[in-house]
Amino acid sequence: MSTAVVVGSGPNGLAAAVALAREGVEVTVLEAADTIGGGTRTSELTPGLLHDHCSASHPMAVGSPFLSTLGLDHYGLRWCLPEIDCVHPLDSGDAGVLHRSVRETAQALGGPDGERWQRVFGPLAEGYDALAEDLMGPLARLPRHPLRLAAFGPAALLPVASVARLWRSETTRALFAGVAAHAFRPFHRPATAAVGLMIIAAGHRYGWPVAAGGSRAISDALAALLADLGGRIETGVRVRSSAQLPPADVVLFDLAPGAVADILGDRLPGRVARAYRRFRHGPGAFKVDFAVEGGVPWTDPAARRAGTVHLGGPYAEVAGTERMIQAGRMPERPFVLVGQQYLADPQRSKGDLHPVWTYAHVPHGYDGDATEAITGQIERFAPGFRERVIDMSVRSPAGFESYNPNYVGGDIVTGANTALQLVMRPRIALDPYSTGVPGVYICSAATPPGAGAHGMCGANAAASALRHLEKGSHDPG
Ligand SMILES: Cc1cc2nc3c(=O)[nH]c(=O)nc-3n(C[C@H](O)[C@H](O)[C@H](O)COP(=O)(O)OP(=O)(O)OC[C@H]3O[C@@H](n4cnc5c(N)ncnc54)[C@H](O)[C@@H]3O)c2cc1C
Repeated sequence: MSTAVVVGSGPNGLAAAVALAREGVEVTVLEAADTIGGGTRTSELTPGLLHDHCSASHPMAVGSPFLSTLGLDHYGLRWCLPEIDCVHPLDSGDAGVLHRSVRETAQALGGPDGERWQRVFGPLAEGYDALAEDLMGPLARLPRHPLRLAAFGPAALLPVASVARLWRSETTRALFAGVAAHAFRPFHRPATAAVGLMIIAAGHRYGWPVAAGGSRAISDALAALLADLGGRIETGVRVRSSAQLPPADVVLFDLAPGAVADILGDRLPGRVARAYRRFRHGPGAFKVDFAVEGGVPWTDPAARRAGTVHLGGPYAEVAGTERMIQAGRMPERPFVLVGQQYLADPQRSKGDLHPVWTYAHVPHGYDGDATEAITGQIERFAPGFRERVIDMSVRSPAGFESYNPNYVGGDIVTGANTALQLVMRPRIALDPYSTGVPGVYICSAATPPGAGAHGMCGANAAASALRHLEKGSHDPG
């Protein structure tokens, strides 16, 4: 029987472990923290309330070409949809509202913008599964749906700023800006539209669901399936050098490239080591989880029903603050994401006390305190919020990095989404999962298709490892 060691139990590490165990490989997962899950952990960060430590809403996980084949519902994973996916309120009192249905979204936007939204996102949502299969699968393979890909490619390669010109009203432009900001890139850079277009398309196909009981249900379900397949997980094992690894035919690292270079040391070919050390990380996140009596008193009624609320004002303001954080400057009013997962999944609350998940985009390694900036942005669109806050838990960029070393400088997406790194990460190679050491792979969000709790980096890396095992080359040495 072939053996595998997976280092790191984030969604990609666990997906890789399951993909290997399904093929009869004996898998051991080593996890540094005391709990599994990486970016999908959930716990009582404030007493009695369930807070997602990292990922919150999961259009990409529901639509994942790998996770969706695993029957994770048999292992307790259940998705809950908020009434409204996302709202972007403006100071004028207007708000951009993203519904699951393209038609409903287009109708709410109205006028020429509504028509264009339908024309752009109707076909993208309809063809999302085919697109995801090609964009989230191994990139070296020939596309299975070349026409869909050819239709998506040109728009995806544009800067956000160019695509935003499609929309005339400030409401639509702001709504698009908020989703596009998930890429953590300045809007004038090439290929920055790709992330926003994919998230909106995924949302129109699947909604922005949250996992019942918290995002930890995703990793718990993967771990339970892995156990059924005979795999083992050891927690509290931080791997610092390859000497620590038990003998195995293949090794997969669910880690940032720099950590893989540290662990493999001289075993890594020089060109790969240089590429891993040059790998660029993006700006940081500063997170505050609030316990809020009665929920957030949003002025906008739709925001009170939305799973996610984007705060950053009009398009120009979001574009400006995303540019600033990239340049290492902290804006007074940063872009803030607010998650109200409890609306779809009430078990996370205690009576009328609700967990409210927020984070701000901040410069890489930002060492200030953004708590007041986040509170101020919420107050701007929900006066009286401050008085309702009963408790909070704060995590700075440095806090993120010590919580999970993959989040270098607070970079929660494990690698800047530069045009090059969007398609060729973590280095330019036919097999981006290969480390150049036979039988050793990297499978974290630093590899294609990048961030998100979709497990596709892990599944693709496992496919590379399985090809290696099929060739009969054992023991990475
Ligand atoms: C605040 C925040 C909000 C997010 N929001 C969303 C969202 O709403 N939707 C979404 O889809 N995604 C979201 N993400 C991104 C998503 O969580 C990540 O992209 C995803 O978790 C990456 O998975 P991974 O398996 O590559 O790595 P990770 O989840 O980072 O897991 C890596 C694991 O490796 C372990 N590890 C690290 N070093 C070592 C070592 N040396 N030895 C052993 N173990 C080690 C870590 O402890 C961790 O468990 C968010 C992330 C954050 C932080």
